[in-house]
Amino acid sequence: MKEKYDYIVVGTGIGGGTLISELTKFSNDILVVEAGNLKHNSPNYISKGRDFGLRSTSSIQLGGTSNLWHGVLSFLDDIDFKQRDWIKGSKWPITLDDLMPYYKKISKSFGIKDFEYFFENKLPEDLNNELKSIPFNRNILNNKLFQQPLNILNYKHKLLKLYQSKKITLLQNSKVCKLNIDNGKAISVVIGTDNKLYDVSANNIIICSGALESPRILQNSNVNNPIIGKYLMDHPMGNLCQVKFKKPRKAQIYSAKKYNPHIAIKTGLTFSLDIQKKHKIPNHCFYLRPSFSQGINNKSEKIKLSLLAFKDGKISLKDIFYVLSNINIAFQILTYKLSYNATYKFADLFFVSEQTPTEDSFVRLSKDKKDEYGYPLAEINWNISKSDVESVEKCYEILKKEGFSNEDFEFTHKFEDIDWSNNFTSAAHHVGTCRMAENENDGVVDKNLKVFGIDNLYICDGSIFRTGGNVNNGFTIAAFATRLAEHLKTKK
Ligand SMILES: Cc1cc2nc3c(=O)[nH]c(=O)nc-3n(C[C@H](O)[C@H](O)[C@H](O)COP(=O)(O)OP(=O)(O)OC[C@H]3O[C@@H](n4cnc5c(N)ncnc54)[C@H](O)[C@@H]3O)c2cc1C
Repeated sequence: MKEKYDYIVVGTGIGGGTLISELTKFSNDILVVEAGNLKHNSPNYISKGRDFGLRSTSSIQLGGTSNLWHGVLSFLDDIDFKQRDWIKGSKWPITLDDLMPYYKKISKSFGIKDFEYFFENKLPEDLNNELKSIPFNRNILNNKLFQQPLNILNYKHKLLKLYQSKKITLLQNSKVCKLNIDNGKAISVVIGTDNKLYDVSANNIIICSGALESPRILQNSNVNNPIIGKYLMDHPMGNLCQVKFKKPRKAQIYSAKKYNPHIAIKTGLTFSLDIQKKHKIPNHCFYLRPSFSQGINNKSEKIKLSLLAFKDGKISLKDIFYVLSNINIAFQILTYKLSYNATYKFADLFFVSEQTPTEDSFVRLSKDKKDEYGYPLAEINWNISKSDVESVEKCYEILKKEGFSNEDFEFTHKFEDIDWSNNFTSAAHHVGTCRMAENENDGVVDKNLKVFGIDNLYICDGSIFRTGGNVNNGFTIAAFATRLAEHLKTKK
């Protein structure tokens, strides 16, 4: 290993993995530092707020969370980047138009063949007809399209290939503990491995260790910005309620439809801009998920976590009990996974809500707990504000009153039947702790992902989100990584 590299990239999840792949197109002087190895390890954090279920929502290993993700892709909406007077600090320093070329570029690496299928007006006639087969009020609700390549990209395999072909130098089981910063420059990273610490230097250092760890590295390096760690967000989600169709329906695209053997497409629903403005609600999304029995079951997300536990081989009796005692949910999951064209008369309204940024939700250094190298661990305080819970209740009222006509639908129960605030679960979309901003009084990185006040230090992962939108965040992280690679190439 050398003493100095052109680039050091810390972490190999969707942010790091995408960035490294793009950097190798113009540089062969890249050191990749990864805390994990080839097996799943849960991160070591102290959880103080709501439970993220970290065992299943984060992974310390080569490829990071790309080892767990489902590859469902969609981009943020125009409104997500704009000033929304009803969401404090919502304006990003860039627009959707700035990011769109990079979504398009990286979509090919994820296996997307028809990028235009993300747009309703570009869908072929048969898919468009399916969208129209559910009769909701299109004046207030829009379709939001998602694509899912079935061969899901996992950066572990891609990075191993880059390592074998000597395009990168790769350190596994090597944890970056802090950075040495001098005179507005990041000089080196301090790496802990085999109970020893050592330094390596680089011209450019890019931290991609995820929204829970990146703020810890900056804080342990004494980067002096009080915003670091603040505004931790996720997409709190769960079954809001259920509708019964007066006439049973087949509408596969509302669940998941394979439009070619390798890619599935599905639609969610979002509220029109006018409705968001009028009711001052965030950009929530919900799905009409086919259900085969009346009544909703809020254990669905816990069951999915149990199924993930099957995958990582650590099954508890509780997991087995959950799956066996909830056959409807098992059937719902199979319908989704197999793209089964079922006829159904009930649909769960499954909400993936946009959590608005609040200072009460944050990551900070623990005062007393340290890691094996003597650096403070991150203490995670994920909290959802009262107004976020209330906005979901507002949505229920709008949907019932204006969204679905009584001629076609019936709500099977009342909103009060569910304790929504308790049933919110994490969507495993951790974002927001090093937010992008116009200036350092308002955020941690600028529009090129450079840390304010430090010439050669960048962050490229979920932490840079300013607001969360409603879509799974992997595609956006990858688009930002592609954009950063281009910026670094220009800087060279
Ligand atoms: C079950 C599941 C399903 C999901 N499905 C989807 C989906 O369908 N679509 C979608 O868009 N998103 C999905 N997501 C979310 C998505 O996977 C994550 O948002 C995304 O991977 C986050 O990327 P990241 O680069 O911010 O962080 P991560 O992927 O968490 O990467 C962080 C990396 O840094 C490493 N690291 C951490 N600390 C250190 C350190 N100190 N030193 C060195 N290395 C370190 C980690 O090992 C890891 O490699 C899903 C997530 C889960 C858990």
